[in-house]
Amino acid sequence: MHEELDALLCTTYPELFAHRHVQDDSLMSFGCCCCGDGWFPLIYALCRSLQHRIEHYGEPQIQVVEVKATFGQLRFRVSCEAGEMSDAQCAVIEMAEILSAGTCEVCGCPGLCVSNEYSAVVRCPAHEQEGSSADEECV
Ligand SMILES: [Zn+2]
Repeated sequence: MHEELDALLCTTYPELFAHRHVQDDSLMSFGCCCCGDGWFPLIYALCRSLQHRIEHYGEPQIQVVEVKATFGQLRFRVSCEAGEMSDAQCAVIEMAEILSAGTCEVCGCPGLCVSNEYSAVVRCPAHEQEGSSADEECV
């Protein structure tokens, strides 16, 4: 994911991304670079829903510890120092992860899982020939 989009997530939802610029056990010091720009709207909407529910429905504050693509699906890992995550929080994260499996990681259009011997990625017909953007960016 491009740095500007990563930065936009962190500045819009600083409570969720509290680990982003801290060198701790979380993998968030690497940011959201490990997935493509096509998933940005999905991740942004997920963060919006999570933080909205925290502020308006009294759900516990969670912190994002890892955002990456694994075998063609978003993995959005969080920690919850304030107590136990609510069922709704688990459900919206699960929903976003499921939606990612049908969303081109390059452009965000509907896509299908394309696999080779090394990995699986989600691509629309226009981006089917492109490899994993995550592989290129996560060095
Ligand atoms: Zn595409």
